[in-house]
Amino acid sequence: MGFNFTPHNDDLLFVPLGGANEIGMNLNLYRYKGKWLMIDLGIGFADNHLPGVDIVVPNIDAITPYKQDIVGLVITHAHEDHVGAVPYLWPELGCPIYTTAFTAAVLKAKLVEEGITAKVPIHEVKAGQSYDIGPFTLEMVPITHSIPEMHAVAVKTDKGTVMHTGDWKLDAAPMVGGTTDEATLKRYGDEGVLAMVCDSTNVFVEGESGSEKDVRASLTDMIRECRERVIVTTFSSNIARLESVIYAAQAAGREVVLAGRSIWRMVGAAQEAGYLQDARPFLTDTQGMELPRHKAAFIATGCQGESRAALSKIARGEHPMIRLSPGDTVIFSSRNIPGNELEIAFVHNRLVAQGVEVINDYNGFTHVSGHPARMELERMYQLVRPHIAVPVHGEARHIHEHANFAKALQVPLAIEPSNGVVINLTAEKPGIIGSVESGYLAMDGTSLIDSNSTVIRQRRKLRDDGACMVSLVLDKKGGLAATPRITGPGCLDEEEDRDFIASLAEGIGEMIEARGKRTKAPTELVHNHLRKAIRDELGKKPVITVHIHHL
Ligand SMILES: [Zn+2]
Ligand SMILES: [Zn+2]
Repeated sequence: MGFNFTPHNDDLLFVPLGGANEIGMNLNLYRYKGKWLMIDLGIGFADNHLPGVDIVVPNIDAITPYKQDIVGLVITHAHEDHVGAVPYLWPELGCPIYTTAFTAAVLKAKLVEEGITAKVPIHEVKAGQSYDIGPFTLEMVPITHSIPEMHAVAVKTDKGTVMHTGDWKLDAAPMVGGTTDEATLKRYGDEGVLAMVCDSTNVFVEGESGSEKDVRASLTDMIRECRERVIVTTFSSNIARLESVIYAAQAAGREVVLAGRSIWRMVGAAQEAGYLQDARPFLTDTQGMELPRHKAAFIATGCQGESRAALSKIARGEHPMIRLSPGDTVIFSSRNIPGNELEIAFVHNRLVAQGVEVINDYNGFTHVSGHPARMELERMYQLVRPHIAVPVHGEARHIHEHANFAKALQVPLAIEPSNGVVINLTAEKPGIIGSVESGYLAMDGTSLIDSNSTVIRQRRKLRDDGACMVSLVLDKKGGLAATPRITGPGCLDEEEDRDFIASLAEGIGEMIEARGKRTKAPTELVHNHLRKAIRDELGKKPVITVHIHHL
């Protein structure tokens, strides 16, 4: 699927390659005068269609042919869905990166962790300063989110200004990071904004997202009431929440223990950038387990039930250090991301089975969102007053609802993007004018593979139906030299299915004899025979492999 961009050199185009079909994996492109500006390059989380895969990254085939024309990658903030794919995809792009100090610190730590040794040009920029990248003049506008140094990006061109909000909320007391710079947003609104590309995550939530200050007070009360061991789990990238938990624990007279690699990394980056300065030194899980039960508060990764995260290991009793007992408490200071409910419930059940009390945002005030609810969106549209609303950071249902909401707020035009569309943002005739290739790649072990590759499709089949393998040894005349050896991992039980396996071997033997003098290897015959026999007997369709050895 190609698109000829050349006739549109004087148009301001917007092309999302991620984040406009899902919440996650954000990748936004702007094109003007033949040059490309990229905003954010994030990962998404794999669902059960991708067995054995944890994360996905956007397919960037549509932009790599133009890599020499990418003038920069601007990163709005340090959340994984905005910065997480840089270590995997930057080597294919090679463009300069622009971001503010904290995000740069997190990114540098990630690059080291992922073994990216190439010199990645990261330019630190400051809020409130204009900087030119190719035909674009940019300004980072401070805006509140659940992480320090979140910035909307004002993208100025001589075709008009785009306000690219990134993730945001309004919170008069965000505890970490500044409040939203409403004066600057209003100034842009006064000057005239052509389009606003805006966060749709919580468009279905009425009212306001709520304040971090109130969550902090609630967590402090909650931890104070606990008498035994306490574990709090949250997103490790939610620095405001980490700070809330740390200060709540310390106020309750407990030392803070960190469990999980990503929490140590985020806390390190936050302290390097000047945050969390009043925290007492953090303890390792070994040190934490040596303290009296009421003297430690653990912060663990795994609030989404991720099987390899610290909390899941603790719940399964497989963590190398941390153990829980009846009367201990686990607090989920997070929301359940749609799609993760089963994994979270699994962890929850395992904890309850151990006699552990679980508090989450259903039975306690443990969380506020970092994304704008409807009243906050309304306020943003009042400040920026764009001519065109372009909702992103949502599934199709969020984007559609956001477009309708924007129109109800008197925005003249709303365009609903999906990944890969080419949107002309030029004032005279805005709209979708075509599309380019989009999609995602799966991070499988250490390599990126097509999410619909043979390997993944076969792995799905193996997961659902198992495998059946047969080895045949044929003599020089093409007859069987030994009884066929059949194994069926995930499909046949060597003991229980002994008779059936023997009948399969017998059937194959008869078939080989019956095929007479034909010399062609009987691979396909054997394959078809097994497929039919297993389907008839077990109602399963395993992956079948036939190995033939000739004497
Ligand atoms: Zn975010
Ligand atoms: Zn996000």
